Amino acid sequence: MQTDKSNDQTNVSTSTVANAETKAAREGVFISTYGCQMNVHDTDRMHALLEMINIEQVGRPEDASVIIINSCSVREKAVHKVHSEAGRYRKLKNKNPNLKIGVGGCVGQQEKGNLLKDVPVLDFVFGTDTIDKLPQIVQEVRKQNTKITSARFDHVSPYQIETLIKNPGVATFVNIMKGCDNFCTFCVVPFTRGRERSRNIEEIIQDVQKLTLRGVKEVTLIGQNVNSYKSDHGEGFGDLLLRLTKETNLERIRYTTPHPKDFNIELAHIMRDHREKIMEYIHLPAQSGNTEILERMNRGYTREEYLAKAKMLQSEVPGATFSTDLIVGFPGETEAQFEDTLSLLDEVPFESIYAFKYSPRPFTKAAKFLDQVPEDIKSERLTRLFAKHREIAHNLTRKYEGATLRVLVEEYHESDGGCFGRSTQNKSIHFKGSPELVGQTVNVKINCAYPSTLHGEIV
Ligand code: SF4
Repeated sequence: MQTDKSNDQTNVSTSTVANAETKAAREGVFISTYGCQMNVHDTDRMHALLEMINIEQVGRPEDASVIIINSCSVREKAVHKVHSEAGRYRKLKNKNPNLKIGVGGCVGQQEKGNLLKDVPVLDFVFGTDTIDKLPQIVQEVRKQNTKITSARFDHVSPYQIETLIKNPGVATFVNIMKGCDNFCTFCVVPFTRGRERSRNIEEIIQDVQKLTLRGVKEVTLIGQNVNSYKSDHGEGFGDLLLRLTKETNLERIRYTTPHPKDFNIELAHIMRDHREKIMEYIHLPAQSGNTEILERMNRGYTREEYLAKAKMLQSEVPGATFSTDLIVGFPGETEAQFEDTLSLLDEVPFESIYAFKYSPRPFTKAAKFLDQVPEDIKSERLTRLFAKHREIAHNLTRKYEGATLRVLVEEYHESDGGCFGRSTQNKSIHFKGSPELVGQTVNVKINCAYPSTLHGEIV
């Protein structure tokens, strides 16, 4: 932690801090979250950490004594978004000078102390590796009325991050690794989340065991490059999956985000042989369907290798459903190269796609490429890609009409008596039910299938 007035000598443990403040009045934190599931998971962690010092989650910034923007720099104009959101809180700060405002997440990691200089309303900035210091940061900012930046990567200590979440519900996330060593030329993640580090395998198992005791039935294992997980003793992602199926009472296991190059037939067989627990949904981020563009992206596979891997997974994991990430208008992308991305949709039955126009990110190689594609061409390509996928997705999802799917019920909504859950294929399913169904796995017959949701009735 680098601070304006102090340095990183804050050796107070979170529990000591909690004990010292248990008698203090409870206050509120409002966290505004952008980006991926990892950021959503980080926000849960921030809430749990701040609760230890009697700062509870509130639903509106007006009710908060601490406001945090948990930022994401994967999408465009990330820094600009932080500036404008922080600016919107200026009025609240004028009314309440004790209000403390901070920025965490990838923009905090990337911009560090520059944010404090550029956005005077901010009191603290912390990075993706210093979330656990949040209680101390908030306390120090308040007591010493100082501004704090804490955004150094910790390259030394073991990566320990027991899941902290107040209400895990039926299905929750468990972080197993972080960072990425792949350095795709368009991606800022290696700069904002650091190099790959995996958690100790025993700690993950114990973490999941504790969650199941709290009623969790399903976990999604998360990491930037989840299937390159490697334990201290050399156990890989497949070993972790196997141990979770055998040593915990989990009913369902999912994971995201994997890298196509780290899928192999052994992993496919583990999924196939334990399909009652490991869900048959595979996100296989392609990014492009053209080999030259993939090479410029530094993705580590050709179009043919990607397709071979998709075919292998289709044949070895029967019933698997697929989704992918695609970027259009990467620097130098010609019309013919874009059409290779379009034609990927004819080759792999992607039930959903997450597609974006390329936009340059700080520190990345591709941002310096001189042959950037004009914005209007990127927009036109994205429109064509979505239009093509809409037609395909419609046909792919129609197969669910009349089918009966196994659904883990995650929510009941009293307002309309509706239940929400997900099938083994990760389909979002809505149907009428009752509150006691939450946490149970039920059979739902699908009456109506839309590309992103299915509607049905319990049978
Ligand atoms: S593998 Fe994923 S997280 Fe890693 S650099 Fe590439 S896109 Fe980013």
